[in-house]
Amino acid sequence: MSARVLVVDDVPANVKLLEARLSAEYFDVMTAANGTEALAICRRAECDIILLDVMMPDMDGFEVCRRLKTDPATHHIPVVMVTALDSPADRNRGLEAGADDFLTKPVSDVVLIARVRSLTRLKMMTDELRMRAITSLEIGMQAPERSAVADTGKGGRILLVDDRQSSYERLATQLAAEHTVDVEPNPTEALFHAAEGNYDLLIVSLDLNNFDGLRLCSQARSLERTRHVPILAIADAENSTRLLRGLEIGVNDYLLRPIDKNELLARARTQIRRRRYTDHLRDNVQNSIEMAITDALTGLHNRRYMESHLATLAEQASTRGKPLALMILDIDYFKSINDNYGHDAGDDVLREFAVRVRKSIRGIDLACRYGGEEFVIVMPETDLHVAGMVAERLRRSIAGEPFAIHKGTKRIEVTISIGLTTLEKKGEAVADVLKRADTALYRAKHDGRNRVVSQAA
Ligand code: GH3
Ligand code: MG
Ligand code: MG
Repeated sequence: MSARVLVVDDVPANVKLLEARLSAEYFDVMTAANGTEALAICRRAECDIILLDVMMPDMDGFEVCRRLKTDPATHHIPVVMVTALDSPADRNRGLEAGADDFLTKPVSDVVLIARVRSLTRLKMMTDELRMRAITSLEIGMQAPERSAVADTGKGGRILLVDDRQSSYERLATQLAAEHTVDVEPNPTEALFHAAEGNYDLLIVSLDLNNFDGLRLCSQARSLERTRHVPILAIADAENSTRLLRGLEIGVNDYLLRPIDKNELLARARTQIRRRRYTDHLRDNVQNSIEMAITDALTGLHNRRYMESHLATLAEQASTRGKPLALMILDIDYFKSINDNYGHDAGDDVLREFAVRVRKSIRGIDLACRYGGEEFVIVMPETDLHVAGMVAERLRRSIAGEPFAIHKGTKRIEVTISIGLTTLEKKGEAVADVLKRADTALYRAKHDGRNRVVSQAA
């Protein structure tokens, strides 16, 4: 899908010009003639990036930007201010309002396209995460938007890679006003340093002695540990073509020397804020993945996960010619625990049962809650004999020690019955294995409960 660019300018000729250039690069272009119109389009989530004129009647670009960046519905949309002004004070006003970048009129084609490409790429990645995080929000996770809008971007951990002492000393002092800064003057060490340090931002000089700073940026992008850490490049003005190359390989932002202190701080804050937001989104996605495969009461895997994973384990066992054991465990007379002591007591028993199960099995074994008070344990590379010993140990660990209920004020005896079997033939259907274990369980119940019954195929 091509990115949708919103061009906002009160002068129709300016709009036409940018529209033509962007359309030639296959962007979808939308236009607005004033701030109010632009805000409405953004709130309807119709665009991926905004090119925003600064000087407009009614509401100026700074105000439009400020409103976009403080609204949870729009704060993640990248804003590029397009301005005839190019004084550090104006740039800083824009950065304070939350702008992601600036283009100075007349706008250079190459810079325009490079900026729009790199910012929309970032936006689309964030969208994907937002979409998944919204799903987790619907099932009760915490909203990342609120904390993102409130984040000042200060207090970050920064690694500065620069081998000129006069330069890094000045930059480090300036950054230290708001962040924790480490300096790495040796570029060959920088990647390791970056990978180990858990940084929120890398600032990389592209004017290093005998070392290509861009190579470092590209390595940082491909390394798992640093892939998501934003990079702010700094370069001498005559190196600006390399900066464009940098944007293509994933540098997030840049500064030209001589560096203005306030601009440095503002750009660092913007990157750090964005980094925290996407991290937060990513954590949410991770949590929702875990929630989808975990049983909330016991913390064991749920049935859905077991069913898909069991198929994989069975296939592995078949192709490697290794045994695979499976048992179904069912708590005896569990209904009467509920009836006699209450549903909460029943829950306590289920939780403690899961704790004891976890203690009795290996890391590679798969334990899951199969239904109410029924559990399944799958043990790779385990034959019927060994699995029988594990099952017996499990049975004893339940029957041998009463369970605490009613906040530890009472203890009750609990027993389980276990049906056990192994995957026998190559390619046997897992449903058949489960069925055999279930038959064994039925016999264990029938024969008096609190026992293990093994069923060879
Ligand atoms: P048996 O020895 O034959 O297994 O008898 P049982 O009472 O354990 O088996 P039955 O299947 O008759 O009852 C299981 C009960 O487990 C019924 C159901 O209300 C209860 N149960 C299912 N899920 C939960 C839960 O999450 N918490 C609690 N407290 N009880 C649950
Ligand atoms: Mg039962
Ligand atoms: Mg049951």
